[in-house]
Formats: sequence, structure tokens, C-alpha cells
Amino acid sequence: MRFKQQLLTLTPYQPGKSIESVKREYHLEHIVKLASNENPFGCSLQALAALQQSAASLAIYPDGYATLLREKLAAFLNVSEDELIFGNGSDNLIQIISRALLHPDASTIMSEHTFSQYKHNAVIEGAIIKEVPAIHGEHDLEAMLAAIDEKTNVIWVCSPNNPTGTYISEQKLVNFLDRIPPHILVVLDEAYHEYVVAEDYYDSISLTRKYDNLIVLRTFSKIYGLAALRVGYGVANPGIIKALEPAREPFNVNALAQMAAAASIADQDFVKTCREKNRQGLAQFYEFCHEHNLKYYPSQTNFILIDFQIDADKIFQFLLERGYIVRSGKALGFPTSVRITVGSAEQNDGLLRVLEDFLAIRKA
Ligand SMILES: *Cc1c(COP(=O)(O)O)cnc(C)c1O
Repeated sequence: MRFKQQLLTLTPYQPGKSIESVKREYHLEHIVKLASNENPFGCSLQALAALQQSAASLAIYPDGYATLLREKLAAFLNVSEDELIFGNGSDNLIQIISRALLHPDASTIMSEHTFSQYKHNAVIEGAIIKEVPAIHGEHDLEAMLAAIDEKTNVIWVCSPNNPTGTYISEQKLVNFLDRIPPHILVVLDEAYHEYVVAEDYYDSISLTRKYDNLIVLRTFSKIYGLAALRVGYGVANPGIIKALEPAREPFNVNALAQMAAAASIADQDFVKTCREKNRQGLAQFYEFCHEHNLKYYPSQTNFILIDFQIDADKIFQFLLERGYIVRSGKALGFPTSVRITVGSAEQNDGLLRVLEDFLAIRKA
């Protein structure tokens, strides 16, 4: 068979280990997964109630236009309905954008240390990939601008960035957007938008009004706690949405996901509580890092990348054997760091105690 050459160079996405597989492998009863930036507090009770209702109509195809969700989200964001596109997770939107704009004669620009799916999809489309080295874990926006060539179609910007948790300030972002030629699509991935507390963070939705070549991606997988259902959305001017729509599968967002997401939007108290608890959780990690002289990136997300200055797989394995799943930085471009999702106060305590043991054993 004549598979695309570039597919042969790729491996499937390596997700965080699953709870079931770790239970079996290590004969542990109780596992805490802090590997995939999921919400330790679950989702809104209103989403659960909506799910129960929609379970009665599983024989019916989903609404391909996501009418109810579209209405609720448009009202919440104060945008019009034709400024929205929905995806089976924002991963699906990354795929749609790549499919629509990337090909072997197009180039695309991304930071070296960012979410892996931009590059992955660009490889599948056979595009010319320009990975720009990061500075201190942050996108080097100047170098990304300098990487633009006559073939550039898409630039990926992740803020707050996964896996570092760092964000771009409003001034820096605007200064960057001002200098992007209007025919190049800038994708601003804001999967962690609702966790941000920084004062100089931008209002990305209003930026889509000012910049006709900007699309903002967000998700219900992170703070809304609906990762299992797969819903993400894009916000951009109607021209971009209209051009992308034909590349979207007709029923890409399932019916349960649409209902649960629509109901979640109404429960902003849940979002606010999660954001606050997350800041308290981050404070637990910061304190630990200060006590033990460990370097980390200040985070605007629900995870933290901590540098232990030793082989990250060792820490990963030590935690795993004690029932904590985290992400080794090895595959993320940070071979001596570990990315840990902020859990509940109790989960954080438990994990930090195990890390304490690890550091004590190493010193001894
Ligand atoms: C988690 C994550 C996504 C994917 O989210 P889904 O909506 O679950 O597909 C996209 N971008 C970044 C940066 C993420 O961390």
C-alpha cells in the first residue's frame, strides 16, 4: 500500500498512562492521575443533569449545527453565531485548520516547546514545518515573525502554553499580531484560558474583532471538566469560519457533549470555584519548590512544570509505583522536568509527600 510517506515517520499520540493500566501493572488499589490536566473536581452538576436527559435520545444523530450550544455560547461570549465553529475537542479544530490550510507547498510556524498536535497535523499534511526555539519556556515571538516566508499559511500560538504554563502578555501579543501579514492565519490556542489570573492577559475574543486573521481555540475539556465528551470551539470572524466549515465532519460533536457543554456554560460559579481552588493548589507546589530549591515556570494553568535537574523518567517512575501518574518532561522537550496537573488539596499533599521522600532518598 502507498501510505503517505510522512505517516511512516509518526507515532500515535502518547497519552498520559491510564488509571486502569497502572492499577493492573503495579497492583495498586488507589491511583491519582495528575498527567493530562483534567479537572480534579469533575464537572458541573448541571452538565450531569443535562446528560441524563439526552441519554434518552441516543438513536438520533447529533445536531450538526450544534444549535443550542451555539446559541448559549454566542450569548456568553457576546459574539454572533457565525463567529463560532465546534470541534470534537479542540484537537479536532487543529486538525480541521491543518486540513484546510496546510499542504506540501505551505509552511507553518510553531514554537519548539508547545502542544505537540500542531506539528503532528502539519506533518500529516506534508507541510513545511518551522519550529522556532523557545526562550525560557516562552514563545520567541520575534523569531517566529522572522520565520515567516512567502509560503507561510498558519502560525500556532499557545497561551497559556502547554507544557510550560507560561502566558504571553497583551502588549507582546498585540505587537506580534500587528506585524503578521493578513493572509496568514494565526491560531491562538487558549485551552487554559479560564484558569488565567494574570492582570496583563488579553481579551482574545475582542482581538478576533480587530484581527481578521486570528482564530481563538478553547475547550470544555479542561476547567469545565468534560474531557471525556470531547468539545472544543473556535472563535473567528465569519469569513474564516465559513472557509473552515467544509473541512469539518458533519456530526463531529456528539449529542451528549453538546448538551453537557451548553449546560456547563450556565454554571460559571463552578468555573470560578475551580479557578480559585487551582490557585490554592498551585501555591502548594510553589511552596514545595521554594523549600527544596527547585526551578519551575510560574503557571497560569492547572499544571506546573518543575525542574528536578535529574532524569525526569526516574521521578515519573518513583511516583507511578506509589500510585501517582504525572507526565515526564522527556517527551515534552524538558528531559529533567516533570509536568504535574494541580489536583485537589489532598491529592497535591499526597503527591508532594511522595516527592519529599524521593528527594530525601536521593540526598541520603
Ligand atoms: C488539552 C489541550 C488541547 C486539547 O483539548 P481537547 O479540547 O480535549 O482536544 C488543546 N490544546 C492544548 C494546549 C491543550 O493543552
